[in-house]
Amino acid sequence: MPQTLVLETNHTGLAKMIMTMRGDKQLDILFRNNTWSADHRHVAEKIAGGRRISPDEGLFLYEHGELAYVGALANLVRERKNGDITFFNRNFHIEPTNLCVYDCKFCSYSRLIKQRSDAGAWAYSMDEMMDMVRRYDGQPVTEVHIVGGVLPQYDLPFYQEFFQKIKAHRPDLHIKALTPVEYHYMFKKARVSYETGMRLMKEAGLGSLPGGGAEIFHPEIREQIAADKCTGDQWLQIHEIWHKMGGRSNATILYGHIEQFQHRIDHMEQLRQLQDKTRGFQTFIPLKFRNQDNQMRHVPESTAIEDLRNYAISRIYLDNFDHIKAYWPMIGRSIAQMALAFGVDDIDGTIDDTTRIYSMAGAEEQTPVLSTQQLVELIRRVGRRPIERDTLYKVLHDFTDTVFEDEKEWRGYVDLPVIQP
Ligand code: SF4
Repeated sequence: MPQTLVLETNHTGLAKMIMTMRGDKQLDILFRNNTWSADHRHVAEKIAGGRRISPDEGLFLYEHGELAYVGALANLVRERKNGDITFFNRNFHIEPTNLCVYDCKFCSYSRLIKQRSDAGAWAYSMDEMMDMVRRYDGQPVTEVHIVGGVLPQYDLPFYQEFFQKIKAHRPDLHIKALTPVEYHYMFKKARVSYETGMRLMKEAGLGSLPGGGAEIFHPEIREQIAADKCTGDQWLQIHEIWHKMGGRSNATILYGHIEQFQHRIDHMEQLRQLQDKTRGFQTFIPLKFRNQDNQMRHVPESTAIEDLRNYAISRIYLDNFDHIKAYWPMIGRSIAQMALAFGVDDIDGTIDDTTRIYSMAGAEEQTPVLSTQQLVELIRRVGRRPIERDTLYKVLHDFTDTVFEDEKEWRGYVDLPVIQP
């Protein structure tokens, strides 16, 4: 059943209410609902009062918080932090290779080295990747997002040279690149400490770290789905070192597979604690597990309702994160649009099909292309303000009232029963 239909049959009324009311009004209505238990009321009052909830209370939200309840509370937090603003940026992706020394069970993307002859494998040379960078010359992109498989030849000197070349060619382009999975492997191979390695990357031109490779930190789950790559502790350590050098980064969770709610809370609790120490995280990006063409294809995917609940609870739990991002190529434009009423204030970028990580896993968007105009319309049609940002959340342009020249030709793709503001 398509996701939108699930929403229509079960939750249209609730979703409409959340999408068309602002935080305090939603809460008034929900507080008048006297079917709430004392626990529901206690947790809601805590959140409405701006107080941090405990891990047990986070678990309570997952186990007993229905969609409208967590949605209204998350929207309140979202609007307190960011009002109606919905951020996006203009970026492109380079994925150097999908060959990988690791064998994560959920990965639909990697081709093991031994399968090098596989038709679906690629490994770009430095020159090929510089050609990709040059393809965006003159275009208003502000960021290149680089991430891919882990391969010995893509080592520390390789990435130092690559980053230096990008910066020499286009100094204003922000390089958001590689995760602790790659860094841990590269630094070990180069026999340098995490501190030295991250300093060398910074000197070469690294601007910030994306949030990938986090999956689920808890070893009970991580060992079953991603046994041999860096541990959760190592992932957190590398981000902490980067933060202490003044760098900013993002964080993710891969949810909706074999983990339990307690593992999601454990994951977010570790991020919340590190953020209290460093304040270096910018945004949290929940990534939905997709089950196409991987070793976990027997595991069912989460529903759209669960996806929205997860965004909402993430927004509530991570009270020291400024932003929650929905990665639209993964969940589809409609659910991403809906997520703007469930705590999400960032909808990623106007990427094109330079990324294949999610389409190969069976994501909603098989050819993820969204022009600036389309992205702006997607945000405006649910009453939010589209703001273009750079990687570090500096406001570049407010598109709230922008009129596009070819506006009449724009064809909407909004297939949810959303109410116009
Ligand atoms: S998730 Fe990343 S590290 Fe794991 S197999 Fe895929 S590409 Fe390699």
